[in-house]
Amino acid sequence: MQNPLTDSFNRRIDYLRVSVTDRCELRCTYCIPKGFTDFEEPEHWLTFDEIERVIRAFTELGVRRVRLTGGEPLSRGKLPVLAGRLARLPGLEDLSLSTNATRLGKLAQSLKRAGVRRINVSLDTLIPERFAEITGGGRLEQVLDGLMAAKAAGFSPIKINMVAMKGVNDDEISNVVDFCIANDFTLRLIETMPMGATGREASDHYLDLQDVKRDLESKYEMIPAVMSGGGPARYLQVAGTSLKIGFITPISQHFCATCNRVRLTVDGTLYTCLGQEENLALRPLLRAGIADDELKEQIRGAISRKPERHEFTSQPDKIIRFMSVTGG
Ligand code: SAM
Repeated sequence: MQNPLTDSFNRRIDYLRVSVTDRCELRCTYCIPKGFTDFEEPEHWLTFDEIERVIRAFTELGVRRVRLTGGEPLSRGKLPVLAGRLARLPGLEDLSLSTNATRLGKLAQSLKRAGVRRINVSLDTLIPERFAEITGGGRLEQVLDGLMAAKAAGFSPIKINMVAMKGVNDDEISNVVDFCIANDFTLRLIETMPMGATGREASDHYLDLQDVKRDLESKYEMIPAVMSGGGPARYLQVAGTSLKIGFITPISQHFCATCNRVRLTVDGTLYTCLGQEENLALRPLLRAGIADDELKEQIRGAISRKPERHEFTSQPDKIIRFMSVTGG
């Protein structure tokens, strides 16, 4: 490997999140706006060949972990084929997937066979009517089927991502804790981020996870824990159980100083910070026939310009793209 990818704040970048589509059939209140139709044109989507080429360049630059995300990644046709191609790239040690799980019932086995190692599933509530409200008409049953299929396919750990919202689902945190204990899932609680108009509206329901942590500590005996995955979550384990709870606190306790990741959108834009606009448009370079060495130099250059931190708190109106565009 050449010199590892390092930014100007001496952060080593070894994790790439790849959005394979900006589309999703769900309309979570904090994510894609209701009625939104202005999705990326299919001719602008990176092809599987282009995605593989960019990820190969990243692995040659020392990236070891890739997560497929979106939009809803399983809505991109033949995703297990892409996963299989990526899993075979030399140097890639950890291929993971974030999904809403609505198609996981059908695809869990083939994703496992393709080499996806870990799965995160978004699930904000266990109440069917509430699930339909939060997701704009989604069916909880499909997600639960998908989760069970992932378990049966042998994925472990399976992490549940719950965006914790005051007055929306904060009364359910204990139920979700029990659900995760019963099913041997890991739980990650996430603070809402002001991304796009929807994210900002959801910030009206912002819940400080430091308070949730204190509340959980008063109900359960919690002990410090570590969890594989390279992410920003800080974990505690519920004593006497295998449940680990991760707290993802971009607002109450930001973790930019240890950020190790960048994001590639479906149209081939490389964003070096979730909460800033700095980016590098790779698609025009790829389609103009850029050579491999030059591609890697461009990536290095973009990483060297990675911003120090997001400004979600000081400039909450700054980011107009919502999460599904960048790939959450
Ligand atoms: N469709 C996949 C899924 O459901 O996990 C992957 C994409 S989704 C955009 C990734 C994650 O971003 C989900 O866990 C979602 O809850 C989270 N998310 C979206 N908008 C958010 C916001 N404004 N604040 C915090 N989390 C957000």
